[in-house]
Amino acid sequence: MSQAFLDHLNATLAQIEADGLFKREHQISSPQGAHMTVAGRDMLNLCANNYLGLADHPDLIAAAKSAMESHGYGMASVRFICGTQDLHRQLETELATFLGMDDAILFAACFDANGGLFEPLLGAEDAVISDALNHASIIDGIRLCKAKRYRFANADMTALEDALKQARNDGARHILIATDGVFSMDGTLAPLPEIRALADRYDAMIMVDDCHATGFMGPKGEGTPAHFGTQVDILTGTLGKALGGALGGYVAGPKPVINLLRQRARPYLFSNALPPAITAAGLTALRLVRNGDDLRASLFENARIWRAGLKDIGFDLLDGSHPIIPVMIGDAVKSQEMARALNTKGVHVAGFFFPVVPHGMARIRTQMSAAFTEDDLTYALGAFEEAGRETGVI
Ligand SMILES: *Cc1c(COP(=O)(O)O)cnc(C)c1O
Repeated sequence: MSQAFLDHLNATLAQIEADGLFKREHQISSPQGAHMTVAGRDMLNLCANNYLGLADHPDLIAAAKSAMESHGYGMASVRFICGTQDLHRQLETELATFLGMDDAILFAACFDANGGLFEPLLGAEDAVISDALNHASIIDGIRLCKAKRYRFANADMTALEDALKQARNDGARHILIATDGVFSMDGTLAPLPEIRALADRYDAMIMVDDCHATGFMGPKGEGTPAHFGTQVDILTGTLGKALGGALGGYVAGPKPVINLLRQRARPYLFSNALPPAITAAGLTALRLVRNGDDLRASLFENARIWRAGLKDIGFDLLDGSHPIIPVMIGDAVKSQEMARALNTKGVHVAGFFFPVVPHGMARIRTQMSAAFTEDDLTYALGAFEEAGRETGVI
């Protein structure tokens, strides 16, 4: 390979390092859980998307093992050639029923679901209006479609209405509003009732990416729309967070949407089918979620204790009740110092700073899980207090 090219890559890497933006991976040698083993040390894990604690659940592991015995290891095919098992259709049907939608289609990840969603559904005559804080996969999916693009400031309903008016004035045929159900850096919710009202006024449709909600938001964990009692038109989501945390994504919606995606969505047509172990464990995760009132109660009780404890100590939080609980630090370097100090005390957290969040708004994003015990939270609060004092954050 050309040395000039490699030098160019090394210069980019050096710049990432110099900017303090270099990401390092910690190798975990245990299952994912409230506790994990990193470099031989037991660590409390406060930054997984393991909301219901299902990532190491014995029923999911048993379902995966048993499906490998009955259905094999890999599919060696995309869905339409010879990659569709009874398990796939069962999971799609059960997901759709759970989410209150007509049908659903599985993808290898929600990144692919969002990546493949827009292009088959919308043409150059159409418009897509996207929240500025939407997940990278929605941004990329929208880039791949020919519809005219509009953006509105995060959860700003005046800005959304302006965009809707503009799209109507520009002669849009169909208009789709795209939003995350929960914004992952802040733990705040999209104001779905207000979005629905505006969508109805301007004859637009709504797509919600509910990755940080499915399984635990809403009365039975159906997600943000159920939480608000609002109907949306298309939902996307993941099996990689509350629903077991392995991988897999989906789109749920009206039959013609799902049927057309099966014909045209490129990540679906040109990428391998989910393996049996994942599909079967997904069905088991869904069953645990449907009967998961206790898990959801533990999750939200832990989130309440954690928020109240951090506030008592004097940390600055973003308000809310979602289990994503960002501890605002401000300065990027300080957020890294705080994360390191917590690490030495056996608490694993991640600092987030520019460009993931705006300049001066660096934070430690903590995430609650049903898997934590009261002792875990007491220990973690003690560690936060010590680390906060050591680094001058409080
Ligand atoms: C995690 C996440 C995704 C990606 O999901 P995967 O299944 O891991 O690809 C997409 N959208 C949002 C909002 C997410 O939080």
